[in-house]
Amino acid sequence: MKGIKPICDLTMIDPFGRSISYLRVSVTDRCDFRCVYCMSEDMAFLPKAEILTLEELDRIASVFIRLGVKKLRLTGGEPLVRRNVMHLFRALGRHLRTGALDELTLTTNGSQLARYAHELKDAGVKRVNVSLDTLDADKFAAITRWGRLHQVLAGIEAAKQAGLQVKLNAVALKGVNDDEFDRLIAWCGEEGFDLTLIEVMPLGEVGSGTRVDQYLPLSMVRSRLRKSWTLDESDYRTGGPAHYYTVRETGRRLGLITPMTHNFCESCNRVRLTCTGTLYMCLGQEDAADLRAPLRASESDAPVEAAIRNAIDRKPKGHDFIIDRRHDRPSVSRHMSVTGG
Ligand code: SAM
Ligand code: SF4
Repeated sequence: MKGIKPICDLTMIDPFGRSISYLRVSVTDRCDFRCVYCMSEDMAFLPKAEILTLEELDRIASVFIRLGVKKLRLTGGEPLVRRNVMHLFRALGRHLRTGALDELTLTTNGSQLARYAHELKDAGVKRVNVSLDTLDADKFAAITRWGRLHQVLAGIEAAKQAGLQVKLNAVALKGVNDDEFDRLIAWCGEEGFDLTLIEVMPLGEVGSGTRVDQYLPLSMVRSRLRKSWTLDESDYRTGGPAHYYTVRETGRRLGLITPMTHNFCESCNRVRLTCTGTLYMCLGQEDAADLRAPLRASESDAPVEAAIRNAIDRKPKGHDFIIDRRHDRPSVSRHMSVTGG
């Protein structure tokens, strides 16, 4: 029957033919660090009353899984500072056991990993992304403002001991950590970690220097790295913005996330849910859909499902990030910690 969508259509295809199979959920906007590129030191956080309960987050995520999401990443803010967040990991782990979900994972600053690594493994998590921009303790304290390097290194070690695969994310910051990439690549090689370098994105006011001062195009970094390392093109893809290489000398993967220098939107397979139940169809656009109202309006999941489908039908083609002297202000007003990195 032409023109009529089957009711049991269990995939989400956006207007540009992209299949949406990846959901990131920011479980809290709060964090125990104040990274200079992510937050201002005196961030105002959402009132607790606006935040979805863990049960509500589980319910929305489960609807997404029913609609074809195969990969789920919990993020934040710092996901591991949300009280009882392990309940959510354990609850979502049931979808791994049924085979409905392929992967449950998280992005973390690592500060609480020493405490939770084993529980995460038990819940079915296999891989963690840990953000670490430098191996220098003083620089680490300066970048994160409130973080301590030894705590994060202990967390990474605990994750490794628990059998979790670790990938490191480092934001490339001009004049701050750009002299350390060789060291990070070598260290990741020794530890058996993949590494991804990320270009800074113009999200939210951070009140600490300007984006132009922080921004370091990774095209420049890549040319420099090629003097010390053999970077073999890799066909590894995640549907995300990273371009991957294999570092021949270490055998580990190096990803370069270049939202500013390369438009990666054609293959975008993801959407992002905030801790208040707002669904963003693009990290770099303001358009959003409220899922909290339909969720709370009914015990049935039908209204949420309809709101999700409606949102996917207007997923935009891509972002419009620009950083230069004339555009030195946030492209979108919300911080990465709200939408979830
Ligand atoms: N707190 C966790 C962490 O730091 O891994 C998870 C949330 S954090 C917002 C997710 C990722 O976004 C981190 O790797 C962080 O470095 C990155 N990030 C934050 N603000 C950014 C920005 N303005 N541009 C690029 N990456 C950013
Ligand atoms: Fe917190 Fe992660 Fe943002 Fe740093 S990047 S302030 S750790 S949410």
